[in-house]
Amino acid sequence: MLLNVSNHSDSDVNNINYKPALVLNADYRPLSYYPLSLWPWQDSIKAKYLNRVSVLMEYEQTVRSPSMEIQIPSVVVLKDYIQPKRHLAFTRFNLFLRDGFSCQYCGGSGNLTFDHILPRSLGGVTSWENVVSACLSCNQKKGAKTLKQVAFNVKKTPRKPTAEELQNMGRKFPPNYLHKSWLDFLYWDEILEV
Ligand SMILES: [Zn+2]
Repeated sequence: MLLNVSNHSDSDVNNINYKPALVLNADYRPLSYYPLSLWPWQDSIKAKYLNRVSVLMEYEQTVRSPSMEIQIPSVVVLKDYIQPKRHLAFTRFNLFLRDGFSCQYCGGSGNLTFDHILPRSLGGVTSWENVVSACLSCNQKKGAKTLKQVAFNVKKTPRKPTAEELQNMGRKFPPNYLHKSWLDFLYWDEILEV
């Protein structure tokens, strides 16, 4: 489909590149919170014409094909339910997300690294249970010592999170840009408190 943007503007808000659609699963919950499930307008329009989604909300802007004018979707919902991922990858990112991007020793959020609670030199393994997010300063203080030796406490006993727990953590970190039409479908604490 060849589409031309009908409404050009210099401002960012009206820029066509800022017209992603929030993608909801068939249960009307966002497909993903972190990162927030967004599709570029090209994908949401394609999905609409392939009958894979219903359009719930639209931007005021339109795009034009040779034969028609199409309003850009701002919220779409999948027609078929997608089973959320059950397997959680043990990645730095997921570990930071589990720990809320904060040092599990001092609570700080700058210069995040990760630390083995029981040092590797003492047989500590790299696992959800033995690795926590730590700021550089705590990491250096702790070095290859045990918690007891440096009198550190862990804020929360580390364990493997569930997929739902990670999604819930993701809600606490909304992206900088949120279109107003998305807000009804998101459940961020920050938003509800406003
Ligand atoms: Zn720290």
